[in-house]
Amino acid sequence: MSDRLLITVTSPLLPDLQEFIPYLEDIWQRKWLTNMGYYHNELEKELCKYLKIQHINLFTNGTLPLITALQALRITGEVITTPYSFVATTHSLWWNGIKPVFVDIDEQTCNINPAKIEAAITPKTTAIMPVHCYGQPCDVLKIKEIADKYGLKVIYDAAHAFGVEIDGKSILEYGDMSTLSFHATKVYNTVEGGALVCRDAETKQRIDYLKNFGFAGETTVVAPGINGKMDEIRAAYGLLNLKKVDAAIISRKRIADLYREGLQNVAGIRFLPDTENVRHNYSYFPIFVDEKEYGISRDELYFAMQSRNIYGRRYFYPLISTFSSYKGLDSAKPENLPVATRIADEVICLPMYAGLTEEDVERVLNLIKKQ
Ligand SMILES: *Cc1c(COP(=O)(O)O)cnc(C)c1O
Repeated sequence: MSDRLLITVTSPLLPDLQEFIPYLEDIWQRKWLTNMGYYHNELEKELCKYLKIQHINLFTNGTLPLITALQALRITGEVITTPYSFVATTHSLWWNGIKPVFVDIDEQTCNINPAKIEAAITPKTTAIMPVHCYGQPCDVLKIKEIADKYGLKVIYDAAHAFGVEIDGKSILEYGDMSTLSFHATKVYNTVEGGALVCRDAETKQRIDYLKNFGFAGETTVVAPGINGKMDEIRAAYGLLNLKKVDAAIISRKRIADLYREGLQNVAGIRFLPDTENVRHNYSYFPIFVDEKEYGISRDELYFAMQSRNIYGRRYFYPLISTFSSYKGLDSAKPENLPVATRIADEVICLPMYAGLTEEDVERVLNLIKKQ
């Protein structure tokens, strides 16, 4: 097998082009391109069915639902969150003038450690914004208990958790709201896109206003909303991609199984197990390199992979708390975040997407085993 063939970390799930063309022809006929059109509304309906939820608002990307969730719940002051995520999670707080308070993660899940949340609560705390990192469910019950005790809202960044269920119940049903990203790199994509999941029709209505400049009628603006609407072309694309996502998740599971089988006896390489009562989506396959046991560092392995044309990703490195906008915060100090700091130095997400072949996986495994 040639070393020169490129293996990328991800590759987008694409709808069948021939099937897309009639949808485009229909959109051309309707001449309704955006502003909650036919395909937008169809996709909201179909996503509710697929995800087993009641209320969803489509957005034009996965960052605006985070920003809008905070607006819809009127969150202010301080919000407790994880540094081990994509920057958009914390940026959404900054865009709302909210102070992020970072809490360390649990190394078994890479999610916020609930045992450390209470110590970070102050009189200014109004909400918790955890992330279901890699689609691994947070400890939703413990987080609810803490939120209820202190009267805090919970907004889950579920950008990685499309289709994830616990005991047959959608992960999106936990917390006051959950957000999704349909970016091209995610398990399910609409090129760019995202959604906000809420609990009741009244809140959905309010979010509909907020994502359309706050318009609640031709001449009435009820809030300083934003433009977050998803257009018809991407909604139609999304309807078609929804038909392919189950098969994609099955392929991803096969790849995860192959990785696990291949890596189970490699000293110094750790990976996350499946949880029995969880429907996983296999959005990422992170491995954690213990330099002492493995012999070389994460970065040495990462660049060795690159030199053989295998592209992993150091996801999430660096921690959000180390970026210039946030590193001055008390909670951003590495001493406050020892686990996240170590995990960020150990992680590589291996190539993972539905079209990855067994030969590709074999090449990745052989390289990791040979170091
Ligand atoms: C992808 C992602 C987002 C943002 O999504 P976009 O659609 O790219 O705006 C937010 N949070 C996490 C954890 C993500 O991975």
